[in-house]
Amino acid sequence: GKADLECEMLVLGAGPGGYSAAFRAADLGMRTVIVERYATLGGVCLNVGCIPSKALLHVAAVMEEAAHAADLGVSFAAPKVDLDKLRAHKEKVVGKLTGGLTGMAKARKVETVRGYGHFLDANHLEVEETTGAAQDKSGGKKVIRFQKCIIAAGSAAFHLPFIPRDPRIVDSTGALELPTFNNALPKKMLVIGGGIIGLEMATVYSTLGAKVDVVEMLDGLMQGPDRDLVKAWEKQNAKRFDKLMLKTKTVAVEAKPDGLWVSFEGEQAPAEVQRYDMILQSAGRAPNGKKIGAEQAGVAVSERGFIPVDSQMRTNVPHIFAIGDIVGQPMLAHKAVHEAHVAAEAAAGQKSHFDASVIPGVAYTHPEVAWVGVGEDEAKKAGRKVSSAKFPWAASGRAIANGAEYGFTKLVFDEETHRVIGGGIVGPNAGDMIGEIALAIEMGADAVDIGKTIHPHPTLGETIGMAAEVAHGSCTDLP
Ligand code: FAD
Repeated sequence: GKADLECEMLVLGAGPGGYSAAFRAADLGMRTVIVERYATLGGVCLNVGCIPSKALLHVAAVMEEAAHAADLGVSFAAPKVDLDKLRAHKEKVVGKLTGGLTGMAKARKVETVRGYGHFLDANHLEVEETTGAAQDKSGGKKVIRFQKCIIAAGSAAFHLPFIPRDPRIVDSTGALELPTFNNALPKKMLVIGGGIIGLEMATVYSTLGAKVDVVEMLDGLMQGPDRDLVKAWEKQNAKRFDKLMLKTKTVAVEAKPDGLWVSFEGEQAPAEVQRYDMILQSAGRAPNGKKIGAEQAGVAVSERGFIPVDSQMRTNVPHIFAIGDIVGQPMLAHKAVHEAHVAAEAAAGQKSHFDASVIPGVAYTHPEVAWVGVGEDEAKKAGRKVSSAKFPWAASGRAIANGAEYGFTKLVFDEETHRVIGGGIVGPNAGDMIGEIALAIEMGADAVDIGKTIHPHPTLGETIGMAAEVAHGSCTDLP
């Protein structure tokens, strides 16, 4: 058929996966077009994910520090929250980053086509133009002919089928807008799903004054990290939540003028129906694989909507690649970016493969929880011979000075090779520190390598060196 636009490389979706792939492809000399239905580049992560959530979590952290400062001898007045200003702060952060991407796309001559794309065949994509924040379709259509393609269409919040449509029931995108009801933030809120996204938003709203209940179907919060990390986190957050209901399901929601009335079933279900001002649905995200006409291009999509790929991020159709949330767990921005580089390089004929041994995970809650590699719990379950070493922050000068002596740093070792294969940190800035353990794993380091590396004193990062010394029995910072 006839095409309105031709390119060597078409990238579908402009999230961290998509823009990284497009930029790398352009840098490798391909004429690249990127198709995105949002008005700005950056995808979920920059517009309605990682970045706006961290902007709000930073504000929450400042408020919490201020609230506890009285114990340190400094008192502030009760906080006054100007919601418009707070939203503007978040928008400014997002705007700086998405604006930066627009500039970077221009500098590389990557052409952006705004609209909703779906495949016509293995070399053509039709784009229905979208306008406005609501992604309304304007009726305009464009056909793009491509030689190669990288699918980076991401994922969307999963909505429980029995939950009614109501402005008081939001997903993470809605929650990040800080909606008000009768001119106030919700006073009583239910978070469905105790994963990272739910707990981050629960942290923000509880700090802003809401009473928050969390309901989780499984027997624990946060599925990635070892339970000892989560236990320490729970202890610090014991007062944050009104009710923390594990092994419990939301079974019915009735939207009435006086509130959202919710029934629960399970081990920790309250007997009575509960009333809430707002509900956040954060019970997982679903890949967008079934919404892009992949079958027209002959691209295989799994039952659940994921696109299977090989280690070069190639789908079953050799000139079509897929990356990011749409190819599988973990649904994280840094994973998408690394896959993007592999896909663009492989498309350019290079021998790149996705061969990272570990992908770190972080909950940017208060305190933070970060983990990487093989977990101790998971290794023991699988019968793998591992040992672990922990350094309690109660023995860290910096942690004590910062009021974080409840934290700890842990390393997991393979008993045969003595190499570090995993690690976890709970405490402030855990996410900023986990990269060192990831590097140690990738470099095949053992406890001696880490322990003999001089870490600056007094820092929280020093606890990684000390945990390594604990592992080889040479720690002089513990009794
Ligand atoms: P996405 O970012 O989902 O981008 C896909 C893009 O494709 C979107 O812009 C979408 O509009 C577009 N698109 C889809 N279909 C079409 C189509 N047919 N036509 C045109 N355009 C289309 N990850 C972290 O690593 N750290 C965090 O702190 C973090 N925090 C998060 C907080 C929240 C609230 C949420 C929801 C997610 C968070 N994530 C975080 C996850 C992270 O956002 C995703 O892993 C990441 O955005 C995935 O990137 P991607 O490129 O695969 O897809």
